[in-house]
Amino acid sequence: MGENLAGRTAVITGASSGIGEATARALAAEGASVALLARRGERIEALAAEIAGAGGKAVACVADVRDRDAVQRAAEAIGAALGPVHTLVNNAGVMLLSPFAAGKVDEWRAMVDTNLTGALLVSDVFLPQVVAARGDIVNVSSVAGRTTGPNSSVYNATKWGLTAWSDALRKELVKAGVRVIVIEPGAVATELTDHISDDRLREGMQGFYDSVGALQADDIAAAIAFAVGQPHRVSLNEILIRPTGQEG
Ligand code: NDP
Repeated sequence: MGENLAGRTAVITGASSGIGEATARALAAEGASVALLARRGERIEALAAEIAGAGGKAVACVADVRDRDAVQRAAEAIGAALGPVHTLVNNAGVMLLSPFAAGKVDEWRAMVDTNLTGALLVSDVFLPQVVAARGDIVNVSSVAGRTTGPNSSVYNATKWGLTAWSDALRKELVKAGVRVIVIEPGAVATELTDHISDDRLREGMQGFYDSVGALQADDIAAAIAFAVGQPHRVSLNEILIRPTGQEG
């Protein structure tokens, strides 16, 4: 285990799979204590046990990022188990692609409420601790927060919103010494595409991921660990990471 993040406590939302799971492992491997948030309790419990078994410190807290009260309860449990929070990684997200004309209003709401409002609510809960620690907020946005495409309009809206909010928040928090870091991955092989309800689009996206040689979740986790591991004077505001084979 490294010690670059020793003494820090990091909260990672969406830690039950993919990028969040890999990020929890990467930050713990650098000595951070990690708090794992997600809805699937068994998965975060297993990850917490794995991290503890490797000599790290981790706590699993079941919480839906759309439910501020649940996140507040998680924050209290984290405070009791790990002490004050230094770093928040807003990673929880869903990508439910569909043509806008299909009118899948419930899926639009799930994306807006999770990817955008969820990040706002979780940040609201942890902000006083992050400010007190002169810590970090890492927002996992997307290439889809810089580009747009058909069938992605609402997902694009959530990620453009997250990126825009990140930049404005960074400016607001400069004087407090808080770093706000936005991560913009291209295609990463995770469960993200599995939840697309339109069969044709789901299979099409999976084919696209294969064709560009999708990144691994560990690749994004390494970038997050690198960014938060920089000396406090260095703020990596925005990190765009595409697979080498992905054009747009
Ligand atoms: P996964 O589907 O593997 O992970 C998504 C995570 O979000 C899961 O841990 C899931 O946990 C959690 N989550 C979803 N909804 C909620 C909720 N309401 N409350 C709490 N947790 C929730 O996909 P990725 O790892 O790929 O996605 C992580 C982030 O990366 C997302 O924001 C995604 O938009 C972004 N991203 C991914 C890319 C990719 O190609 N994979 C590219 C660019 C960005 P649970 O279901 O247990 O609650």
